[in-house]
Amino acid sequence: MSSANNKNVPVAFFGHGSPMNAIEDNEFTKSWKVYAESLPPIKGIVCISAHWYTRGTGVTAMTAPRTIHDFGGFPDQLYKIHYRAPGDPDLAEQIIALLPNRTVVHDQSWGIDHGAWSVLIHMFPNADIPVVQLSIDASLDPKEHFEIGKALTPLRGAGIFILGSGNIVHNLQATFGSREGLSGPPLKWNVDFNNTVVELLAKSDDTKLINYHSLGPNAQLSIPTPDHYLPLLYVLGAKEHVDDVSFPTFGYSGAGISMLSASFGIGRNTLR
Ligand code: ZN
Repeated sequence: MSSANNKNVPVAFFGHGSPMNAIEDNEFTKSWKVYAESLPPIKGIVCISAHWYTRGTGVTAMTAPRTIHDFGGFPDQLYKIHYRAPGDPDLAEQIIALLPNRTVVHDQSWGIDHGAWSVLIHMFPNADIPVVQLSIDASLDPKEHFEIGKALTPLRGAGIFILGSGNIVHNLQATFGSREGLSGPPLKWNVDFNNTVVELLAKSDDTKLINYHSLGPNAQLSIPTPDHYLPLLYVLGAKEHVDDVSFPTFGYSGAGISMLSASFGIGRNTLR
């Protein structure tokens, strides 16, 4: 598999926001659908979701992953959704083989969490493409998440779509502490940090994005816990110099959530 050719499947980070996006038809979910339609044919999906944040690294290795409703206080309709994409134990093995220096657990208990399925249900509504999740080891340094993403790059040449799902800005306290909740306007630090990340992505300044702790007070407010930001680092690792960046989704969900998405690679038609 060549590491730098135009046949590589793009790699993307999506801001998933509220679980309600799974059943809503809004500007964000529409853009996810349009994006998926622009992709070349893909054989499998590896999702790094903010919601599988673990000690150690795991990869889902079951043939029929369950749909995990890992949230509380939402309408019944959301709990009735089952995203029945198959698993892919062979793909799980390939991932493990690409990470020879790490202990990666063959997981049989997780499945597809809402960070993954609330987005995939819009992108691939037929649920006919196998989905494997890779967990985020909370004990690793930011650079190590980037390195794991880098190790996965060859999968792109084999028709695998790598999707990081989180939110660049994810401050729930700011969002739900405001009267308007998810429909309120973004606070200034949210907009400023989001724009900083867009600029750094456009410049391919991976070093600053990896060392997000040194991006100042806006970063601290935007990333109060690292779980929703770290999927971006896997995606940055899996991109290559030849990949153009585009932003399929740009916007906010309340005071402290950014819905920014970023894609790297050929196949986009909505460059902003
Ligand atoms: Zn989330």
